[in-house]
Amino acid sequence: MNREPLALGTDPGSMAGAHSSRQRLADLVLTTNYRQRRCLRMLLLTAMVYGVCVALMAYGAVEGIFELLPVYWLSVLILLSTLLFYGIIRSGLNLRADEPTLAFPQALVAQSLAAGAYAFSGPVHPAVLMLFPLIMVFGMFDMKVRHARILTAYSIAIVGALILWRVNERPDIYPARLELIYFVMLATVLPAISQLSVLLSTMRRRLKTQKAELEKAMLHIQDMATHDELTGLSNRRHILDQLNQYALRQARGGPSFYVALADLDHFKRINDVHGHAVGDEALLTFARQALEQLRNTDAIGRWGGEEFLLLMPETPPGDPNVGLERLRANLASCEASDSVAGLHVLFSAGLSRYRDGEAVEATIERADRAMYAAKAAGRNRTVAL
Ligand code: GH3
Ligand code: MG
Ligand code: MG
Repeated sequence: MNREPLALGTDPGSMAGAHSSRQRLADLVLTTNYRQRRCLRMLLLTAMVYGVCVALMAYGAVEGIFELLPVYWLSVLILLSTLLFYGIIRSGLNLRADEPTLAFPQALVAQSLAAGAYAFSGPVHPAVLMLFPLIMVFGMFDMKVRHARILTAYSIAIVGALILWRVNERPDIYPARLELIYFVMLATVLPAISQLSVLLSTMRRRLKTQKAELEKAMLHIQDMATHDELTGLSNRRHILDQLNQYALRQARGGPSFYVALADLDHFKRINDVHGHAVGDEALLTFARQALEQLRNTDAIGRWGGEEFLLLMPETPPGDPNVGLERLRANLASCEASDSVAGLHVLFSAGLSRYRDGEAVEATIERADRAMYAAKAAGRNRTVAL
């Protein structure tokens, strides 16, 4: 049976190729840095508006609506300023500025160019008025409130000055009665936009604080979900996750490991004789000493009340019991509580090696039996099974 060859354009391979070359071009022009890319996208959008303005000026010049020379110079200035800002942002120089988006200087330049266009666009100049609020809106997403206010005052002042000049020079095209109306409109709309940018800035600040608080809360929740509150050690779920990860790693040729369950001896007696607070202190002492005395490749979690689970990756040569005995010796020589002299933490431990392919629960079960054997044999010792 004859099969039609796949049409070229539908070949998923070639589509992916086209996509990635477009991606590469975008990366080259806009960089791969998210923030820089955003700045350059804004600049590109500005350039598009500029492009339309330049085309309209060229059309107006050809049709004899505008004066040729000012229109020519305005176009040159537009091109140069756009290239300059592109160069500054693309090279990363903007990152040294307080506001790396350069929204404020860009808006100042744009308002100046728009003012120039207003002065030289003859009978079309009222249409140019639209550009002033547009530039303000562009800038208000990234501008500081103080900058938005300066920009507003600057725009009103420069347009006002140019109007005065043009009204005197060309009253036929810039009649004072109409110019007064345009100016008042502009002097009303620009401050209103500037005020909106204040609101936007407040909202942005609130969002930023909320985001920071949320991130902090997330970290706290994450910590609470994986750690024990009293000792700060991994909790039961977290240490079990770690055990399962080690089991998976061993299955893929990673290191083998031992599991030990350590249960404090006669702990109830410490609580009964010295109070719960001293009991808590003794638990903390055990946790601190375990963290200090065991290898930093070992992991330890609070398995239950006064029971701890230790995960000890095998690093030959070495007996996992060495770490446990070092811990035992240390606990025997350090005070379990600041308030009770001569109180020491003793523990019984059960040790078992993880066997290839078994569920970690089976290893824990053996370690538990070994721990009970240690208790039965007189406590304060380790039994391996
Ligand atoms: P054994 O040597 O047989 O292990 O005796 P034990 O007294 O340690 O064992 P038992 O299981 O009878 O008692 C454990 C005690 O641990 C009982 C419980 O009140 C205490 N405990 C559990 N969690 C905490 C805690 O967070 N703080 C304090 N202070 N005590 C705790
Ligand atoms: Mg117990
Ligand atoms: Mg106990």
